Amino acid sequence: MTLAPERAAQSGSTTDDANPAVSLSCRHCGATYPLGPQHVCFECFAPLEIAYDEDRLRRVTRASIEAGPQNLWRYVGLLPAGHDPARRVSLGAGFTPLRPAPRLAAELGMKTLWVKDDSANPTHSFKDRVVSVALSAARDLGFTTVACASTGNLAHSVAAHAAHTGLRSIVLVPHDLEDGKTVSTAVYGGTLVAIKGNYDDVNKLCSQLADEYEWAFVNVNVRPFYAEGSKTLGYEVAEQLGWRLPAQVVIPIASGSLLTKVDKAFRELGKLGLVEPTPYKVFGAQAAGCNPVAAAFERGVDTVSPVRPSTIAKSLSIGNPADGPYALDVARRTGGAITDVTDDEIIEGMRLLARTEGIFGETAGGVTVANLRRQLREGLLDPDAETVIYNTGDGLKTLDPLVGIAGPTATIPPTLSAFEAAGLGDD
Ligand SMILES: *Cc1c(COP(=O)(O)O)cnc(C)c1O
Ligand SMILES: [Zn+2]
Repeated sequence: MTLAPERAAQSGSTTDDANPAVSLSCRHCGATYPLGPQHVCFECFAPLEIAYDEDRLRRVTRASIEAGPQNLWRYVGLLPAGHDPARRVSLGAGFTPLRPAPRLAAELGMKTLWVKDDSANPTHSFKDRVVSVALSAARDLGFTTVACASTGNLAHSVAAHAAHTGLRSIVLVPHDLEDGKTVSTAVYGGTLVAIKGNYDDVNKLCSQLADEYEWAFVNVNVRPFYAEGSKTLGYEVAEQLGWRLPAQVVIPIASGSLLTKVDKAFRELGKLGLVEPTPYKVFGAQAAGCNPVAAAFERGVDTVSPVRPSTIAKSLSIGNPADGPYALDVARRTGGAITDVTDDEIIEGMRLLARTEGIFGETAGGVTVANLRRQLREGLLDPDAETVIYNTGDGLKTLDPLVGIAGPTATIPPTLSAFEAAGLGDD
C-alpha cells in the first residue's frame, strides 16, 4: 500500500517513546511488521495483533492509572494510540459503572453478581472504546477518512466520533437494521450506505474498498488498533473491583474480539503486577440464530463453520466471526463455556435485567443475561463465585423486538372509575 503525501508526513509517529506498542505481530506464525494500516500476515494470512515493549508497559502503575482522566484514556500507557493528546479522539468513552446486581443475583440463585454497564458510553455501546482507539490510530497514521462495516453500534460510534473530530466518515451497514441504529448514525451527517445483504456481505465489500481507497477501515486495515480498545473493559472491571480479577465473566460474542481482549487485559494486569493473577473463567454468549462459536464449542472442534444469521440480536449477527477460533481457545483454556439462547429467551433476558436491576440493555444484553441463566442451569457457571456480566448496548436502540410485548398495563379513559374498573387501584 502506498502512502498519500499527508500520510507519509506523519507515519512513524505511532512509534514515539510514549507509545508502548512497537510492532504488529502475526497471531499464527509470529512474523512481525511495522505499526501501520495492516491486519493480516503476508506470510500466512492470519490476523495481526499489536506487540508491546514490556519495559514501556511496566512504567504503568496503579497510581499512574488512578491519576488519569475518568475515561478509557486513563489506560493510555497500555494502548497503541492516543499518546499525542492533539491527535487523541475522545467523546469521553469508558469508566462506565460497574453496578452491583443483588436482585438479579437473588432471582438466579447467585451470591455476588455485577453488571458492567457499557450502555453508559457516549453513543450507548461499548463500540465507543474501540472507535476512540481506532480513530486515534488513524490520525496517528495520517488518515483523514475513516470507514467501517457495522452491525449498527459501530456505525453510530464511528459517525459520532468522526463528526466530533472533523474526519470524513463512510459507514456501511446491512439494509435491515433497527431504526434506532440507522437514524442515530445518519444524524451526524457522514456517508451512510445501506447494503442489500447481511453483515458478512458488507464486510466482504469493505475488504475490497480497503484495497482501493486510502481510508482507515476501523475493523479492517486498522483492526489491530481497534481491537486493543476492548481491553479497557477488562482493565476497568479489575480496577473497579479494587484491583482484583472476578472469578467468572460472561461476554457477548459477535466477531469474538471483545471476549478475547478482556482475557488479554486480565493476563496483562497479572503479568504487570497490577493485580494478583488469580484464576478466572471466561464464558461466551451467542444467539441461537447466529451461533457459529457456540456450535463449535458444543461440538468440541477448533474450526468455526460460518452460519447465515437470523436473530433479533442484530448487533451480534456475524456469521463468519474473525476471532471465533481465539474465543474458543479462551473459553477452553480458562474453563469457561460458550452457549446460545433463542430469541424468546433473549427477550426474557432483556426484561429480567430491566425488571430486577433497572437496566435496559439492548438485545445483546438480553443474550448475555439469558446465557448466564442457561450456564447456571447447566452447572457450567458456579453460582457462588463472583461473576461480572457485560451489558454492551442500550435497549433504546433495539425497541423493535419488544413492541407489542412491553406496553401499557391498561389503556383507559381519563376517569377515576375507569382506573378502578381496570383493577389498577389498591384492591
Ligand atoms: C459489537 C458488539 C458486541 C461484540 O463485539 P465483538 O468484539 O465483535 O465480539 C457485543 N455487544 C454489542 C452491543 C455490540 O455492538
Ligand atoms: Zn503469519
